[in-house]
Amino acid sequence: MGKTILIVEDEPKLAALLVDYLAHDGFDSHCLADGLGVVDWVKKHAPDLILMDVMLPGRDGLALCREIREFSAVPLFLITARIAESDRLHGLEIGADDYICKPYSPKEVVARIKALFRRVNGFSAQLPSIAGFSLNKERLEAHYENHLLELTPKEFRVLAVLLDKPGKVYSRAALMDCLYEDDHDVLDRAIDTHIKNLRRKIQDASGKKEVITSVYGMGYKIEIC
Ligand code: CA
Repeated sequence: MGKTILIVEDEPKLAALLVDYLAHDGFDSHCLADGLGVVDWVKKHAPDLILMDVMLPGRDGLALCREIREFSAVPLFLITARIAESDRLHGLEIGADDYICKPYSPKEVVARIKALFRRVNGFSAQLPSIAGFSLNKERLEAHYENHLLELTPKEFRVLAVLLDKPGKVYSRAALMDCLYEDDHDVLDRAIDTHIKNLRRKIQDASGKKEVITSVYGMGYKIEIC
């Protein structure tokens, strides 16, 4: 079954171009031209991925991203002309999976979407419970000590990598390699943001603080129980 991509973009020509390129690769798309109906549409139709412009009439893409993350871990790319680092980090902190900067090549956007779906599908369906965690890749669900963690796809993948060898220290560079197979402009600190979000979610769910530890100057690891 084809995957459905929601495109939220107020410039009709850009939206139409993305629809064409996505259709060429077998994706179905639906376009919304302003921010007002986005949350309802996502709740009703559960798209497989969202491409969303930040500057939208009606509602801002960052606010929409934050609201969507309250109920969904759907992969979400923000499209932005604001390239300041603080804006990009802010977007990652509120749960965007990645950024696409304008002007972009529609071909590259499609390549990144396909790469994301490949990575999501690349993990084995069910990892055994390890260090207190169990992961289900089909549903992108992670449990810690039987508490469901509401993770974004990227947070899920960071966790899956750390759990591959509990106790092993993974450098930021190693984690980046696992997350971004195509070479595009990503900030090292994005990893810190994902780790910070993971820790907060694990703590909110279980009350435990030191599940993922930092090794100064080296990277991160999951403590073996
Ligand atoms: Ca716009």
